[in-house]
This record gives sequence, C-alpha cells and structure tokens, in this order.
Amino acid sequence: MDELKEECGVVAVYQLGKGERKNLAPIAVRGLLELQNRGQLSAGITSYNPDRDRILQTHKDLGTVHEVFYLNNSRKGHRLMEEYAGSAVIGHNRYATSGSLDSSHAQPFERVHGRMWKWFAIGFNGNLANYDELAEELVSKGYHITYHTDTEIMMHQINRSLRGDDPPDFKDLFQEVCSNFDGSYNITFINAKGQLVVLRDPLGLNPLCYGVAEDTLIVASESVVLSNMGVEDFKDVQPGEMIIAENGEFRVERFMESPRKAHCFFEWVYFSNLASSLEGRSVYKVRHEIGKWLAEAEKLPNEEDHIVMSVPETANTAASSFAFHRRLPYISGLLRNRYVGRTFIEGTDRKARVRMKFTPLREVIEGKKVFLVDDTLVRGTTLKTVIEELREQGKVKEVHIRIGNPPVLGPCFYGIDMPTVNELFAPHYMQNANGKIDPDPAILKAMAKDLGADSLVFLPLDKLIESVGLPKENLCLACMDAKYPTRTGRERFQEALEEARSIWAAD
Ligand code: SF4
Repeated sequence: MDELKEECGVVAVYQLGKGERKNLAPIAVRGLLELQNRGQLSAGITSYNPDRDRILQTHKDLGTVHEVFYLNNSRKGHRLMEEYAGSAVIGHNRYATSGSLDSSHAQPFERVHGRMWKWFAIGFNGNLANYDELAEELVSKGYHITYHTDTEIMMHQINRSLRGDDPPDFKDLFQEVCSNFDGSYNITFINAKGQLVVLRDPLGLNPLCYGVAEDTLIVASESVVLSNMGVEDFKDVQPGEMIIAENGEFRVERFMESPRKAHCFFEWVYFSNLASSLEGRSVYKVRHEIGKWLAEAEKLPNEEDHIVMSVPETANTAASSFAFHRRLPYISGLLRNRYVGRTFIEGTDRKARVRMKFTPLREVIEGKKVFLVDDTLVRGTTLKTVIEELREQGKVKEVHIRIGNPPVLGPCFYGIDMPTVNELFAPHYMQNANGKIDPDPAILKAMAKDLGADSLVFLPLDKLIESVGLPKENLCLACMDAKYPTRTGRERFQEALEEARSIWAAD
C-alpha cells in the first residue's frame, strides 16, 4: 500500500514499592524497540533520578531506537543506560506529522525549572486538530512558538496551568489543559519530584495500555510491549482516564468524561504490531477475519493458475487467510526490502522508490493469475507501480486487486499522515457517491482500469466493522464515512472537500 505514517509511540515505566532504587531505563528502551513500527524518525527517554543534580535528564536524537541508544555497541549502550539510570522513565518514538524533521523536535520535551514540581518532561502521541487555534491563543498571550509542534503547545499549556506556589492536583491540572484540546492525544508526563502521569484522550483514538511486571508499572502504546515483558493481564487505559504514579504506588482516575469512544480502525488494519491486542481485539485475528470476508465475497472461480500474494508486509495475514479460505496457494512472490527505509539514495522519483522497495519473483509468478491482497488503498501510486512491475518484471498473466478496507475518502486530522482529498485515489471516482461508501461495479471497473489491474474489490464497510468486532459507534471510521468525531475534524473536512472541489472544477 501507499505508506501511511503513524504518529508516534509512547512508553512509561515506574518502580513500585519502597525497595532499593532500580534502573528502569533499559526497560523503557526495550519498550521503545517493540514500538518501532509507530515511528522511526527519532527516539528518546527522560529519566528521574534524585541522586543526580539533573534530577530529570533527557537523551534523544534522530534515528531508530537501535541508533539512538547504541544497541549495536554494548560499551556505549551500557554507559548511556548508566548515565540515564532512573526509577521512573518516559520514552518516545517519533514520526513527524507536524514540525520539522531535525533532532530538536525529538521527544520527550523537557522544561527545566528550579521548583521540582514545575520541572517536567512530556511525550505525546497524537495530533491536535485545533493546533492553529491553540497556537494563536498562546501567541496572543505573549508566547513565542519555536518548534511549531503539538508537543510544544502542550508544554506551554501545562506550564501555564502550573501557576502559583502550590503543587498541582494532577486531575485538575490535566482537566484544565485538555479541555482546550480537539484531537487525539496520549500524554506521558514526569516531574522532578518523581511523579508520573499517563493519560488517554476522551475518545480513545490511539491505543494505550498498562500492566505490572513484578514491581514495575509499564504503560505503552501497544500491548506487545507488555506481553513480551511477561505481563499477561494488561488493561487498556480507558478513554478519558489517567494513571498517576507517586510514592511507589499508582492509581487510575477519570480526568474527563468520555461521551463516546472513537478508536481508529486503522490501528487493527495497518499500524499496530501483529502481536498486539487493542480493546481486547487481537490485531492478528482482525486481519485474518478480513482475509476470510474477502474470500467469501470472491466472485471469480478458482482456476488452475491462480495464486494469492500480498503487498508485504502488513497485508500478509489477510492475504494468507484469503488463500486459506479460497483453497489457493499463497506465494511470497513480491519481496519487500525492509532495510530501504528513508535513505538519501531514494531520490524523488516515486516509481524508483517503489522499485527499490518491492521485487517481484519472476521464477515463481510468471504466467500466473494473481490475487494481490493489500490492506488499504490511499493514493494508489504505489499499487499502480507494483502492478506495473508484476506485469513487466514478474510476467504475470492477470492481477486482481483485493483491498481489506473500504475506499479512503477523506484525510485524517488525528495524527495519521494522510494526503489531501485531491491526492486520495478514491474520491476522484466517488465525487457524486452521496455518502455511499461501498463503490458500485462500474466505479470499481474504472478504478481497476486506471490502476492497471484486471479487477478490483474492496472489503465492504459492514464486514470491516464485523472483522474488528467492536460496535460501530465505538470506532473512528471518519476517513471513509466522513463522520469525524470532533468539531474541528468536521470543520476541517468541509474545508478540505471544498478545496478539492475547486481543484476538480478547474480541471
Ligand atoms: Fe483513523 Fe481515519 Fe479516524 Fe484518522 S480519520 S483516526 S485514520 S479512522
């Protein structure tokens, strides 16, 4: 698929009880490693250690977790872990949806202050849809915006609410701060008194869970962090809830009402680790269900030379399930170079980038009729090149595209890095769909033709919802059904639609 970028992963660890202080920095880094799928631009930790002059200390830089924490250099890596030792640590992996790409934007953001309860660091996963409004308001009050990121806005807002001579009540503090936010936000907060707070927005757009391993509280964006540390009975932080850890104990409190839930369905379909479970629903099982539904809806009869392939790697599970339920061979006929990443040799030509990333295996696919399963269709540019490559290099006979998702018809304002309406593939064909989400056969035919495919099928919306297995009203499906769960989301979608319409009218 066209790559969608996730908007970061967070982790927080805290030593429970009154025992001898431990160094939890390596645990936090291990957690970040498990969350590498959520952002590879930069990584960082802030640790708390009252034996240091710098009670809070932050290490962060551009690069993967391996690079930033020297995981391939045991001497350097161990020295770093000693230097940043702490009994409470927050960590962050960044993919940038706002702000520049340099190291000063890496998180956590730390704000030093002489008063220990005003000295804090935060990590943030999400996107504030009303960033402009919030930034304008701060500027009008005399603030200077340096980094132009949501995290900076959040830092100023927290800073503002930490006024006066008395340490804050965290529930009141974050209620005040977050009541201004419109969007998705998981926040980790640590201060120089060793108090840790982690919270999830009232819609629960992004996942967040927690559990205890021996005497360590672990909070993370995804459950794979906890299960790989031996925590089986992890729990989701409920939308609008916060975890407060202090004095060796922790408690969970509600800081905001949650009038509805709006979990992003893309977490199951594309972003989250296959080994994670979100809101009690296994990512693997959801993708397996999607493949099953696609197989059951398949109209083409099985033929001798039919094979099933995926656009690796996030579509692998749905593709193998499709093959299993259709009783067709599943072939790894398209290989992905997972080491390409973002390199300067990528160049600007999208086609060249796709070619570097995907290699068709001619020796196993030549002359075959391929069912190519992908998880979603965003711009269509990657898929178009992949189909072209399968025909030219792979010498396949036919390519039938099966997408484990309905068409994407709108951008995301909650942190998933999606293009404008005009840059999306499907809206060009469904401009007059009048709210219809599942395209009719004539539209599918036109789309397939433009992609260079022999046929195209999308998973219907109701089957997607059944696959996720949660009530529709608990999901955010806005980039498909335009029902954005917040005021700013709705307003920005109308603006985005009008902008696209004016482009289409001028074409
Ligand atoms: Fe997820 Fe789409 Fe909602 Fe964004 S708009 S949070 S991508 S479902």
